[in-house]
Amino acid sequence: MEICAECGESVAMGNGRFVDRVIEANDVDERREMGRRFPEGNYICVACDTAWQTARFYAFDAMYAEWRSQMISQEQSQDMARTRSAQSASEGQRPFTPWPEDFDAAEAFCRSIPYLGDREHIRAAYGPPMWARADVRQFLPSYRYEWFFVDSSGFGGPNEPAETPSAFVAMAKRYKEAANAAGFEVGFGIAEVGQFQVQIAPYLRCLGRKAAT
Ligand SMILES: [Zn+2]
Repeated sequence: MEICAECGESVAMGNGRFVDRVIEANDVDERREMGRRFPEGNYICVACDTAWQTARFYAFDAMYAEWRSQMISQEQSQDMARTRSAQSASEGQRPFTPWPEDFDAAEAFCRSIPYLGDREHIRAAYGPPMWARADVRQFLPSYRYEWFFVDSSGFGGPNEPAETPSAFVAMAKRYKEAANAAGFEVGFGIAEVGQFQVQIAPYLRCLGRKAAT
């Protein structure tokens, strides 16, 4: 339905909420789980999206101090066109949210992870609606990098800096368990692609969020 999943207002064409509406990429069951008051709505209106962004920033304040300061930088607010295009490029794309059994098949797990844009892209804009890109070390403090660094050539050994797919998936499982325990749902997206390896970023969103009012 062309209504906002939060407030239930129409976001159809010819309406002031049409232009800035954002696709709600979660399915109806997930929306219900998130506490959406109008889960049949396929969009979020700009007012509710702004409220959500604001609430998210407060919730993640400690984790995202740097990211947040960049989002509200002068450059950002002056470059709306770039923000809009980056946002639409990421619309409809969402992190891979694994089920417990997905961790048993490392190669398939890795193939399920979508490319969600480069570092500039996320720093410039929103990323997938309702998800915030996170730092691996938030829940795996001993990891060396901000994002998982994974061999994609098929030739990486266990002693090389890039993780093998199975080593990565084992860490991803630990990361998910820790993040879930802290109240976050976890997804994974490819942040950067190199010649022989990819960087896979964890994404977080709050579990069981109450509807914005
Ligand atoms: Zn709304």
